[in-house]
Amino acid sequence: MILDTSEDFGGEVAVSAPRTVDASFQEEDRQENILRPQYLEDFQGQQLIKDNLSVFIKAARARNDALDHTFIVGPPGLGKTTLASIIANEMQSEIRMTSAPALDKPKDLAGILTNVTENSVFFIDEIHRLKPALEEMLYIAMEDFEIDWVIGQGPAARTMRIPLPHFTLIGATTKAGSVSSPLASRFGINLHIDFYGPEELSSIISRSAHILETKITDDAVMTLAKCSRGTPRIANRLLRRLRDFAIVLGDGTITGDIVREGLERLGIDENGLERMDRNILRTIIEYYGGGPVGAETLSISVGEEVESLEDFYEPYLIQQGYLKRTPRGRCVTGKAYDLLGIKGGANADQGLLF
Ligand code: ADP
Repeated sequence: MILDTSEDFGGEVAVSAPRTVDASFQEEDRQENILRPQYLEDFQGQQLIKDNLSVFIKAARARNDALDHTFIVGPPGLGKTTLASIIANEMQSEIRMTSAPALDKPKDLAGILTNVTENSVFFIDEIHRLKPALEEMLYIAMEDFEIDWVIGQGPAARTMRIPLPHFTLIGATTKAGSVSSPLASRFGINLHIDFYGPEELSSIISRSAHILETKITDDAVMTLAKCSRGTPRIANRLLRRLRDFAIVLGDGTITGDIVREGLERLGIDENGLERMDRNILRTIIEYYGGGPVGAETLSISVGEEVESLEDFYEPYLIQQGYLKRTPRGRCVTGKAYDLLGIKGGANADQGLLF
Protein backbone atom coordinates (compact mmCIF):
# COMPACT_ATOMS: atom_id res chain seq x y z
CA MET A 1 0.00 0.00 0.00
CA ILE A 2 1.36 3.44 -0.88
CA LEU A 3 0.57 6.31 1.45
CA ASP A 4 1.62 9.54 -0.21
CA THR A 5 1.95 12.03 2.62
CA SER A 6 3.27 14.90 0.57
CA GLU A 7 0.86 17.25 -1.13
CA ASP A 8 3.21 18.11 -3.95
CA PHE A 9 5.21 14.92 -3.97
CA GLY A 10 7.30 14.62 -7.08
CA GLY A 11 5.94 17.79 -8.56
CA GLU A 12 8.01 20.47 -6.91
CA VAL A 13 10.12 21.27 -9.95
CA ALA A 14 7.42 23.21 -11.72
CA VAL A 15 9.51 24.72 -14.51
CA SER A 16 7.66 27.40 -16.38
CA ALA A 17 7.84 25.70 -19.77
CA PRO A 18 8.17 21.92 -19.38
CA ARG A 19 10.49 20.33 -21.93
CA THR A 20 10.36 16.80 -23.26
CA VAL A 21 13.95 15.97 -22.29
CA ASP A 22 13.84 17.57 -18.85
CA ALA A 23 14.22 14.63 -16.46
CA SER A 24 12.33 16.34 -13.62
CA PHE A 25 8.83 15.18 -12.80
CA GLN A 26 6.19 16.96 -14.88
CA GLU A 27 2.41 16.92 -14.70
CA GLU A 28 2.06 14.54 -17.65
CA ASP A 29 4.35 12.04 -15.86
CA ARG A 30 1.49 11.22 -13.46
CA GLN A 31 0.63 8.66 -16.16
CA GLU A 32 4.00 7.03 -15.55
CA ASN A 33 2.61 5.05 -12.62
CA ILE A 34 1.26 2.39 -14.96
CA LEU A 35 4.77 2.01 -16.35
CA ARG A 36 6.46 1.86 -12.96
CA PRO A 37 7.93 -1.59 -12.25
CA GLN A 38 6.49 -3.18 -9.10
CA TYR A 39 9.10 -5.87 -8.35
CA LEU A 40 12.85 -6.23 -8.80
CA GLU A 41 12.48 -8.58 -11.75
CA ASP A 42 10.64 -5.85 -13.74
CA PHE A 43 13.27 -3.22 -12.93
CA GLN A 44 15.45 -3.13 -16.06
CA GLY A 45 19.23 -2.73 -15.96
CA GLN A 46 21.31 -1.73 -12.89
CA GLN A 47 22.10 -5.43 -12.39
CA LEU A 48 24.55 -4.97 -9.51
CA ILE A 49 22.07 -2.88 -7.52
CA LYS A 50 19.33 -5.45 -8.11
CA ASP A 51 21.54 -8.41 -7.17
CA ASN A 52 22.68 -6.80 -3.93
CA LEU A 53 19.24 -5.54 -2.98
CA SER A 54 17.75 -8.95 -3.55
CA VAL A 55 20.26 -10.46 -1.07
CA PHE A 56 19.66 -7.76 1.56
CA ILE A 57 15.87 -8.07 1.24
CA LYS A 58 15.93 -11.88 1.46
CA ALA A 59 18.16 -11.70 4.55
CA ALA A 60 15.96 -9.09 6.25
CA ARG A 61 12.86 -11.17 5.57
CA ALA A 62 14.55 -14.33 6.88
CA ARG A 63 15.37 -12.45 10.09
CA ASN A 64 11.83 -11.03 10.12
CA ASP A 65 13.41 -7.61 10.56
CA ALA A 66 13.26 -4.28 8.71
CA LEU A 67 15.74 -3.74 5.87
CA ASP A 68 18.66 -1.51 6.87
CA HIS A 69 18.19 2.21 6.16
CA THR A 70 18.90 2.77 2.48
CA PHE A 71 20.41 5.79 0.73
CA ILE A 72 19.71 6.15 -3.01
CA VAL A 73 21.73 8.64 -5.04
CA GLY A 74 21.30 9.51 -8.69
CA PRO A 75 20.11 12.13 -11.17
CA PRO A 76 16.33 12.68 -11.61
CA GLY A 77 14.24 10.11 -13.47
CA LEU A 78 16.60 7.14 -13.02
CA GLY A 79 14.34 5.12 -10.71
CA LYS A 80 14.97 6.20 -7.10
CA THR A 81 11.26 6.41 -6.20
CA THR A 82 10.60 3.24 -8.18
CA LEU A 83 13.26 1.35 -6.23
CA ALA A 84 11.80 2.55 -2.94
CA SER A 85 8.35 1.21 -3.79
CA ILE A 86 9.88 -2.00 -5.14
CA ILE A 87 11.69 -2.49 -1.81
CA ALA A 88 8.38 -2.11 0.04
CA ASN A 89 6.66 -4.57 -2.31
CA GLU A 90 9.48 -7.10 -1.99
CA MET A 91 9.36 -6.70 1.81
CA GLN A 92 5.56 -7.11 1.59
CA SER A 93 5.22 -3.98 3.66
CA GLU A 94 3.66 -0.53 3.48
CA ILE A 95 5.43 2.54 2.18
CA ARG A 96 4.94 6.14 3.25
CA MET A 97 6.30 8.72 0.86
CA THR A 98 7.18 12.33 1.29
CA SER A 99 9.81 14.80 0.13
CA ALA A 100 12.00 16.94 2.41
CA PRO A 101 10.60 20.30 1.21
CA ALA A 102 7.12 19.13 2.28
CA LEU A 103 8.33 18.63 5.87
CA ASP A 104 8.31 22.03 7.47
CA LYS A 105 8.09 21.60 11.25
CA PRO A 106 9.29 18.81 13.60
CA LYS A 107 5.65 17.87 14.15
CA ASP A 108 5.30 17.07 10.42
CA LEU A 109 8.07 14.50 10.69
CA ALA A 110 7.00 13.25 14.13
CA GLY A 111 3.47 12.77 12.78
CA ILE A 112 4.72 10.37 10.12
CA LEU A 113 7.29 8.59 12.31
CA THR A 114 4.78 7.81 15.02
CA ASN A 115 2.52 6.23 12.41
CA VAL A 116 5.02 3.96 10.65
CA THR A 117 4.39 0.26 11.12
CA GLU A 118 6.81 -2.60 11.94
CA ASN A 119 9.23 -3.38 9.05
CA SER A 120 7.61 -0.77 6.78
CA VAL A 121 9.34 1.73 4.51
CA PHE A 122 9.44 5.49 4.97
CA PHE A 123 10.70 7.25 1.83
CA ILE A 124 12.02 10.81 1.91
CA ASP A 125 12.82 12.26 -1.51
CA GLU A 126 15.33 15.13 -1.86
CA ILE A 127 16.64 14.34 1.59
CA HIS A 128 19.45 16.89 1.14
CA ARG A 129 16.80 19.58 1.65
CA LEU A 130 15.78 18.42 5.12
CA LYS A 131 15.86 21.17 7.77
CA PRO A 132 18.51 20.77 10.54
CA ALA A 133 15.97 20.39 13.38
CA LEU A 134 14.24 17.60 11.49
CA GLU A 135 17.54 15.97 10.66
CA GLU A 136 18.38 15.82 14.39
CA MET A 137 15.08 14.07 15.05
CA LEU A 138 15.80 11.61 12.28
CA TYR A 139 19.20 10.64 13.75
CA ILE A 140 17.61 9.20 16.91
CA ALA A 141 14.72 7.70 14.97
CA MET A 142 17.13 5.91 12.62
CA GLU A 143 19.54 4.75 15.28
CA ASP A 144 17.43 4.01 18.36
CA PHE A 145 13.93 3.83 16.84
CA GLU A 146 12.76 6.54 19.21
CA ILE A 147 12.00 10.24 19.06
CA ASP A 148 12.34 12.92 21.69
CA TRP A 149 9.22 15.03 21.92
CA VAL A 150 9.06 18.24 23.96
CA ILE A 151 5.77 18.85 25.76
CA GLY A 152 4.89 22.25 27.17
CA GLN A 153 6.89 25.44 27.09
CA GLY A 154 9.36 27.39 29.25
CA PRO A 155 10.37 25.99 32.67
CA ALA A 156 7.47 23.51 32.60
CA ALA A 157 8.68 21.92 29.37
CA ARG A 158 9.69 18.28 29.55
CA THR A 159 10.97 15.77 27.04
CA MET A 160 9.17 12.55 26.33
CA ARG A 161 10.83 9.60 24.57
CA ILE A 162 8.43 7.95 22.14
CA PRO A 163 9.39 4.45 20.97
CA LEU A 164 8.94 3.68 17.27
CA PRO A 165 8.53 0.37 15.43
CA HIS A 166 11.55 -0.88 13.44
CA PHE A 167 11.24 0.69 10.02
CA THR A 168 13.43 1.33 6.98
CA LEU A 169 14.21 4.89 6.05
CA ILE A 170 14.92 5.29 2.35
CA GLY A 171 16.49 8.66 1.58
CA ALA A 172 16.87 9.70 -2.03
CA THR A 173 18.90 12.57 -3.39
CA THR A 174 20.26 13.98 -6.61
CA LYS A 175 23.02 15.69 -4.61
CA ALA A 176 24.97 13.30 -2.41
CA GLY A 177 27.48 16.07 -1.64
CA SER A 178 24.78 18.20 0.00
CA VAL A 179 23.79 15.54 2.54
CA SER A 180 25.47 16.08 5.91
CA SER A 181 27.92 13.35 6.92
CA PRO A 182 26.13 12.51 10.22
CA LEU A 183 22.99 11.74 8.20
CA ALA A 184 24.79 9.92 5.37
CA SER A 185 26.68 7.73 7.84
CA ARG A 186 23.43 6.44 9.38
CA PHE A 187 22.42 4.58 6.22
CA GLY A 188 23.52 0.95 6.12
CA ILE A 189 22.87 0.41 2.40
CA ASN A 190 24.14 2.83 -0.23
CA LEU A 191 22.88 2.59 -3.81
CA HIS A 192 24.27 4.77 -6.57
CA ILE A 193 22.12 4.74 -9.72
CA ASP A 194 23.96 5.84 -12.83
CA PHE A 195 22.67 6.77 -16.29
CA TYR A 196 21.38 3.77 -18.27
CA GLY A 197 23.09 2.45 -21.39
CA PRO A 198 21.21 2.19 -24.73
CA GLU A 199 20.65 -1.59 -24.27
CA GLU A 200 19.06 -1.07 -20.84
CA LEU A 201 16.91 1.78 -22.14
CA SER A 202 15.85 -0.39 -25.09
CA SER A 203 14.41 -2.98 -22.72
CA ILE A 204 12.64 -0.24 -20.74
CA ILE A 205 11.13 1.18 -23.96
CA SER A 206 10.03 -2.26 -25.23
CA ARG A 207 8.44 -3.06 -21.86
CA SER A 208 6.62 0.30 -21.74
CA ALA A 209 5.42 -0.01 -25.36
CA HIS A 210 4.03 -3.43 -24.49
CA ILE A 211 2.15 -2.01 -21.46
CA LEU A 212 0.84 0.88 -23.58
CA GLU A 213 -0.21 -1.63 -26.27
CA THR A 214 1.80 0.29 -28.86
CA LYS A 215 3.67 -1.39 -31.70
CA ILE A 216 7.27 -0.22 -32.12
CA THR A 217 9.98 -1.51 -34.50
CA ASP A 218 13.47 -2.56 -33.30
CA ASP A 219 15.02 0.30 -35.26
CA ALA A 220 12.70 2.77 -33.51
CA VAL A 221 13.48 1.31 -30.06
CA MET A 222 17.24 1.71 -30.62
CA THR A 223 16.97 5.27 -32.01
CA LEU A 224 14.75 6.29 -29.12
CA ALA A 225 17.07 4.65 -26.57
CA LYS A 226 20.04 6.66 -27.88
CA CYS A 227 18.33 10.01 -27.47
CA SER A 228 16.76 9.43 -24.05
CA ARG A 229 19.70 10.93 -22.12
CA GLY A 230 20.29 7.68 -20.27
CA THR A 231 17.05 8.36 -18.34
CA PRO A 232 14.01 6.04 -18.14
CA ARG A 233 11.61 8.92 -17.36
CA ILE A 234 12.65 10.69 -20.60
CA ALA A 235 12.47 7.42 -22.57
CA ASN A 236 8.89 6.83 -21.37
CA ARG A 237 7.89 10.43 -22.02
CA LEU A 238 9.32 10.40 -25.55
CA LEU A 239 7.59 7.08 -26.18
CA ARG A 240 4.22 8.63 -25.31
CA ARG A 241 4.85 11.62 -27.58
CA LEU A 242 6.01 9.42 -30.46
CA ARG A 243 2.93 7.26 -30.04
CA ASP A 244 0.93 10.41 -30.85
CA PHE A 245 3.04 11.08 -33.96
CA ALA A 246 2.61 7.44 -35.03
CA ILE A 247 -1.18 7.69 -34.75
CA VAL A 248 -1.44 10.99 -36.64
CA LEU A 249 1.38 10.61 -39.19
CA GLY A 250 1.38 6.82 -39.68
CA ASP A 251 -0.67 3.74 -38.97
CA GLY A 252 -0.07 3.70 -35.19
CA THR A 253 3.22 1.76 -35.31
CA ILE A 254 6.26 3.68 -34.08
CA THR A 255 8.84 3.18 -36.84
CA GLY A 256 12.38 4.53 -37.18
CA ASP A 257 11.10 7.21 -39.57
CA ILE A 258 8.38 8.28 -37.12
CA VAL A 259 11.02 8.58 -34.35
CA ARG A 260 13.33 10.71 -36.52
CA GLU A 261 10.46 12.94 -37.73
CA GLY A 262 9.00 13.26 -34.21
CA LEU A 263 12.33 14.09 -32.59
CA GLU A 264 13.05 16.74 -35.18
CA ARG A 265 9.69 18.34 -34.50
CA LEU A 266 10.38 18.22 -30.75
CA GLY A 267 13.79 19.88 -31.28
CA ILE A 268 15.77 16.91 -29.98
CA ASP A 269 18.87 15.61 -31.78
CA GLU A 270 20.03 12.00 -32.13
CA ASN A 271 22.04 12.28 -28.87
CA GLY A 272 19.08 13.60 -26.89
CA LEU A 273 20.41 17.16 -26.81
CA GLU A 274 17.89 19.98 -27.17
CA ARG A 275 18.02 23.73 -27.66
CA MET A 276 18.89 24.57 -24.03
CA ASP A 277 21.85 22.15 -24.00
CA ARG A 278 23.31 23.83 -27.07
CA ASN A 279 22.49 27.24 -25.64
CA ILE A 280 24.47 26.44 -22.48
CA LEU A 281 27.50 25.26 -24.45
CA ARG A 282 27.31 28.14 -26.93
CA THR A 283 27.01 30.71 -24.12
CA ILE A 284 30.13 29.37 -22.36
CA ILE A 285 32.07 29.52 -25.63
CA GLU A 286 30.83 32.88 -26.94
CA TYR A 287 30.59 34.88 -23.71
CA TYR A 288 33.16 33.23 -21.46
CA GLY A 289 35.83 32.05 -23.92
CA GLY A 290 34.96 28.39 -23.25
CA GLY A 291 35.06 28.84 -19.44
CA PRO A 292 35.59 28.68 -16.58
CA VAL A 293 32.30 30.23 -15.56
CA GLY A 294 30.40 29.85 -12.26
CA ALA A 295 26.96 28.24 -12.07
CA GLU A 296 25.26 31.45 -10.86
CA THR A 297 26.64 33.54 -13.72
CA LEU A 298 25.84 30.88 -16.28
CA SER A 299 22.32 30.50 -14.95
CA ILE A 300 21.63 34.23 -15.41
CA SER A 301 23.15 34.20 -18.91
CA VAL A 302 21.02 31.31 -20.16
CA GLY A 303 17.89 32.24 -18.18
CA GLU A 304 17.64 28.90 -16.37
CA GLU A 305 17.50 28.28 -12.62
CA VAL A 306 20.78 27.13 -11.02
CA GLU A 307 18.99 24.05 -9.65
CA SER A 308 17.78 22.84 -13.03
CA LEU A 309 21.14 23.70 -14.61
CA GLU A 310 22.96 21.60 -12.03
CA ASP A 311 20.43 18.79 -11.72
CA PHE A 312 19.10 18.30 -15.24
CA TYR A 313 21.43 19.72 -17.86
CA GLU A 314 24.96 19.48 -16.54
CA PRO A 315 25.06 15.81 -15.46
CA TYR A 316 24.23 14.60 -18.97
CA LEU A 317 26.49 17.16 -20.71
CA ILE A 318 29.31 16.06 -18.39
CA GLN A 319 28.60 12.37 -18.89
CA GLN A 320 28.62 12.86 -22.66
CA GLY A 321 31.95 14.72 -22.47
CA TYR A 322 30.77 18.19 -23.60
CA LEU A 323 31.32 19.91 -20.28
CA LYS A 324 33.65 19.67 -17.31
CA ARG A 325 33.26 20.95 -13.76
CA THR A 326 36.58 22.36 -12.57
CA PRO A 327 37.36 24.02 -9.20
CA ARG A 328 37.26 27.37 -11.03
CA GLY A 329 33.91 26.77 -12.75
CA ARG A 330 32.37 25.11 -15.81
CA CYS A 331 34.47 24.64 -18.96
CA VAL A 332 33.42 23.24 -22.33
CA THR A 333 35.52 20.57 -24.06
CA GLY A 334 36.68 20.31 -27.68
CA LYS A 335 33.70 18.01 -28.31
CA ALA A 336 31.33 20.92 -27.58
CA TYR A 337 33.12 23.12 -30.14
CA ASP A 338 32.80 20.30 -32.70
CA LEU A 339 29.09 19.83 -31.92
CA LEU A 340 28.37 23.49 -32.57
CA GLY A 341 30.75 23.73 -35.54
CA ILE A 342 32.90 26.38 -33.83
CA LYS A 343 36.69 26.44 -34.28
CA GLY A 344 39.09 26.38 -31.30
CA GLY A 345 38.18 23.06 -29.70
CA ALA A 346 41.79 21.82 -29.49
CA ASN A 347 42.71 24.86 -27.37
CA ALA A 348 39.80 24.14 -25.04
CA ASP A 349 41.06 20.62 -24.35
CA GLN A 350 44.61 21.93 -23.82
CA GLY A 351 43.29 24.46 -21.29
CA LEU A 352 41.60 21.68 -19.32
CA LEU A 353 44.95 20.01 -18.74
CA PHE A 354 46.19 22.92 -16.65
P1 ADP B 1 13.40 9.27 -9.72
O1 ADP B 1 12.70 9.00 -8.41
O2 ADP B 1 14.84 8.83 -9.70
O3 ADP B 1 13.26 10.71 -10.19
P2 ADP B 1 11.41 7.46 -10.79
O4 ADP B 1 11.62 6.30 -9.90
O5 ADP B 1 10.21 8.30 -10.53
O6 ADP B 1 12.73 8.37 -10.84
O7 ADP B 1 11.41 6.87 -12.30
C1 ADP B 1 10.78 7.56 -13.36
C2 ADP B 1 10.04 6.56 -14.23
O8 ADP B 1 11.00 5.83 -14.98
C3 ADP B 1 9.24 5.52 -13.45
O9 ADP B 1 7.88 5.81 -13.47
C4 ADP B 1 9.43 4.22 -14.19
O10 ADP B 1 8.33 3.99 -15.04
C5 ADP B 1 10.64 4.45 -15.03
N1 ADP B 1 11.80 3.67 -14.58
C6 ADP B 1 12.82 4.11 -13.80
N2 ADP B 1 13.75 3.17 -13.65
C7 ADP B 1 13.31 2.10 -14.34
C8 ADP B 1 13.86 0.79 -14.58
N3 ADP B 1 15.06 0.43 -14.09
N4 ADP B 1 13.14 -0.08 -15.32
C9 ADP B 1 11.94 0.30 -15.84
N5 ADP B 1 11.39 1.53 -15.69
C10 ADP B 1 12.06 2.41 -14.95
